[in-house]
Amino acid sequence: MSHGRILVVEDEPKIAALLRDYLVADGFEVEHRERGDGVVAAIRMNAPDLVLLDLMLPGVDGFTICRELRTFSTLPVIMLTARVEEIDRVLGLELGADDYVCKPFGPREVVARVRAQLRRVRLRGADGVPKLDVVLDAERFEVRVRGVCLILTPVEFRLLRVLLEHPGRVHSRNQLLNVIYADHRVVSDRTVDSHIKNLRRKISGSVPGYDPVQSVYGVGYKFDETV
Ligand code: CA
Repeated sequence: MSHGRILVVEDEPKIAALLRDYLVADGFEVEHRERGDGVVAAIRMNAPDLVLLDLMLPGVDGFTICRELRTFSTLPVIMLTARVEEIDRVLGLELGADDYVCKPFGPREVVARVRAQLRRVRLRGADGVPKLDVVLDAERFEVRVRGVCLILTPVEFRLLRVLLEHPGRVHSRNQLLNVIYADHRVVSDRTVDSHIKNLRRKISGSVPGYDPVQSVYGVGYKFDETV
């Protein structure tokens, strides 16, 4: 049984062949395209499970493809890039890539990253409705909402992390205050409200209509994706 269908978009034949060999050996089906133009149409047509996307491509570059893809799909995208400048990495993630690998890379590492992304996707419901719309990476200090990278302040990040740890549980303003200000400095309850307000604005600003941080009147806040 196939572990999944991977679209490899890579114009360097040796790298493409290497990726194909390792992915096929690991049980994946592989489709390969060597130009950027036509990739979005091919994805719409064939609906692969994941895309390995080179950055510099003839025709249309990987950034443009990723940006266009994110207007209609949450399909996992791993960027392959030979440009190691930090700005490119960040840019790739802001455009909605789920991960990136810098060239030169070991093919085993790429296969491991592919598996990790597909595992994450399988945590979504069988009906295809994503259950993990918010992914928080504490090591990278980074939050992605449906693949869109959010820039949060440290306080917003801590608030979201606590709410996410217990989805559905209501946290009082006092509890949240303790979380965001460990030194118990004197701040008003309204401080929590204002940070939460900014957090909600950022989330719904990146994914319109999506507002999983809910206020519970007179009590506090909870994270609830079912609303
Ligand atoms: Ca290239």
